[in-house]
Amino acid sequence: MSQDAEAAAGKIGGQCLCGAVAFEIDNDFRFLFYCYCEQCRRLSGSAHIANLSSETNSLVWLRGQNLVKRFDLPGRNFSKAFCQTCASPLPYMSNETGRIIVPAGCLEGEPVAKANARIFTHEAPHWAEPQILARLPGYRGYPPDY
Ligand SMILES: [Zn+2]
Ligand SMILES: [Zn+2]
Repeated sequence: MSQDAEAAAGKIGGQCLCGAVAFEIDNDFRFLFYCYCEQCRRLSGSAHIANLSSETNSLVWLRGQNLVKRFDLPGRNFSKAFCQTCASPLPYMSNETGRIIVPAGCLEGEPVAKANARIFTHEAPHWAEPQILARLPGYRGYPPDY
């Protein structure tokens, strides 16, 4: 069995940074979206978020569900769930699609998604345009002159 097929057949786990909250969900996602909208930029403090949309909504909290706090932006369908201790993003139910949204960065393994896309790219900040990022030098840690 290929690694992808193996992962698709099973569950994938995730947790917050402090470890107080953990969950499990089918490793079977419709989309992996890299969203560059202004709301995601502010919420993440970075250029984009990376969210998976669950095909099966099979989310099970393994621990710490009582620590999960949800924020819904008034006036539009925009939400975030996070650990009240360490503020890491966590899965939530989308009011818009009724699907469980899973922040890719909190997963333990490689997610299997049917389609990947960058969305709201016209709202990407200049400092995070892909052409600019591709030209930057890369280091295993900080640059030597840091
Ligand atoms: Zn935490
Ligand atoms: Zn967004």
